[in-house]
Amino acid sequence: MALSEFELIRRYFDRPQAAVGRDDVVLGIGDDAAVVTVPGDRDLVLCMDTLVAGVHFPENTSPEAIGHKALAVNLSDLAAMGAEPAWFTLSVTLPQADADWLAAFARGMFRLADHYRVQLVGGDVTRGPLSVTVQAHGLVPRGEALQRKGAAVGDCIYVTGTLGDAGMALQQGLRAAPALRQRLDFPSPRVEAGLALRGLASAVIDISDGLLADLGHLLEATSLGAMLWIDSLPRSASLAAAAAANSGNPHYDIILTSGDDYELCFTVSPGQCAAVESRLTALPGGCSAVGVIEAAPGIRCQRQDGSSWVPAGSGYQHFRNGNG
Ligand code: ADP
Ligand code: MG
Repeated sequence: MALSEFELIRRYFDRPQAAVGRDDVVLGIGDDAAVVTVPGDRDLVLCMDTLVAGVHFPENTSPEAIGHKALAVNLSDLAAMGAEPAWFTLSVTLPQADADWLAAFARGMFRLADHYRVQLVGGDVTRGPLSVTVQAHGLVPRGEALQRKGAAVGDCIYVTGTLGDAGMALQQGLRAAPALRQRLDFPSPRVEAGLALRGLASAVIDISDGLLADLGHLLEATSLGAMLWIDSLPRSASLAAAAAANSGNPHYDIILTSGDDYELCFTVSPGQCAAVESRLTALPGGCSAVGVIEAAPGIRCQRQDGSSWVPAGSGYQHFRNGNG
């Protein structure tokens, strides 16, 4: 690397005068490890996600988007726990130390970090094939972390935002509308929604692998099943436009099974639905009721007219048959 490792860290990652100067950071970047203060009435919530070039993002993804996304996918996990993001660490593996690349990467990452007042407190830099790992740390009032388990028969199923945009962008590649590509490259972690769901949602998961797969994980936690109202699944105007241009194909499969949405899927007992809807309507992404928890294992899909809709392809078979 042309830049020394220390020079690189100092120039791009160490921001002593950062917009986010949290007073709970005792020691940030520069010592052997970071030191933070965890309030006595809080639980610490930890998560980590790695993005590998060509696996988790297309090779042509901008460095700004990679920086944003590496943090965003972790903030999405914290959101699903109802945690308030506080600090993060960053491990980057780079083929070379390219100044323009690093500046854009840092810009994308810190724009999101500053928005949520989450501070980079340490990390690592190594040389090799491009890969980025973030570990995020959040706080919840003791005992109040939201979980995947907890759904009950009769609970309403909701999702935030819209589904399938990122999947459509991936499928269409360079032909994708800019708004769809934006959703793939710059996902919006639903941090505010996660905080608002504390004490109200019975179960929460973030949708990283598609609604069917992730709702499937939520259901596995309690051995229950679900009915999804296929026509109620929220889709963006851009996805609807792409569908209209494709002989009206509603793209149910993309909405249900493509990854990278980073929305939240959550369940709410009937008595709390009005409170949840009024809280979330005011927040980024809002929410849509998309189904109900049932006792019979498996995920079934129903159209507005009451007819059932069966996902195409054998890949979805196990959801339908309730094998998990
Ligand atoms: P050590 O040799 O003790 O492992 P490093 O040389 O890896 O220390 O890192 C020096 C300091 O810079 C540490 O505080 C470390 O947390 C921080 N650091 C290293 N890489 C990054 C990075 N990508 N982002 C933020 N801080 C980093
Ligand atoms: Mg080190």
